Amino acid sequence: MFQSLRNKSVIVTGGTKGIGRGIAEVFLSLGARVCVIGRDERTGSAMAEAMKSEGRLIFCRADVKEQVEIETAIKTAVGAFGGIDILCANAGIFPQAKLEEMTEQEWDGIFATNLKGMFLSIKSCLDYLKTSKAGRIVLTSSITGPITGYPGWSHYAATKAGMLGFMRTAAIELAKFKITINAVLPGNTLTEGVVELGPEYVDKMVAAIPLHRLGSVQEVGYAVAFLASEEAGFITGQTIIVDGGQTLPESQSALDV
Ligand code: NAP
Repeated sequence: MFQSLRNKSVIVTGGTKGIGRGIAEVFLSLGARVCVIGRDERTGSAMAEAMKSEGRLIFCRADVKEQVEIETAIKTAVGAFGGIDILCANAGIFPQAKLEEMTEQEWDGIFATNLKGMFLSIKSCLDYLKTSKAGRIVLTSSITGPITGYPGWSHYAATKAGMLGFMRTAAIELAKFKITINAVLPGNTLTEGVVELGPEYVDKMVAAIPLHRLGSVQEVGYAVAFLASEEAGFITGQTIIVDGGQTLPESQSALDV
């Protein structure tokens, strides 16, 4: 299944931590070459250093909100790898703000990273993906927004649902270049960002998940790898939910059995 990913050139935005790091590790384990992009030079360089022996991972610093920065990082990756086959547009933030207190700045900030950052990442990679024999884009959306809601995340949910609206039209436009675009919808996944939400939040989520644990970053990574594989070439504009069944119960009592 994943044989086709060997030697592919992969960009993972937000690859220095959390789900992005899991995606990067999965692609590396499958023989791909990976460029991780993030803002934190120290974490990114340490990751590249730790995986130096692999020789297939580079770090390029960029803020996905900044067009010049992301374009420069993509050009550096192309210089190192000779092209790009797969873009994982994963970078995202999830600060909480209740609607009544939410400021315009908070609204704009989350849209700039989660939606504009996705758009700029795709635009920067597009010419290179067109020349790949199997160009792939995989977005990291969420169950929050497309399926569920959670107080404090109305702006976040709007960005994650917005990614899917974008995807469905992009899939049609990109089909003529044989590029597919799909999305994974993770449920609660054990990442640095989720740990920062505190143990009480994590415990409540575990209690709401039929498989009774948070997901691992690698489990999301394998779903991304499937959508990025040549074998998934006839799938475009679609989603895979990776949530341990969290979106299934009709009520709390459904979990009591
Ligand atoms: P995380 O642990 O906080 O990691 C976020 C990653 O994104 C980091 O590598 C960070 O790197 C990068 N990033 C953030 N803003 C960036 C920017 N402006 N430019 C470049 N890189 C940026 O978060 P996570 O939990 O792994 O979440 C990753 C993605 O999964 C997000 O899109 C999130 O919405 C989605 N998601 C997460 C969960 C979950 O339960 N964890 C569930 C559903 C969806 P730097 O700090 O170096 O910039």
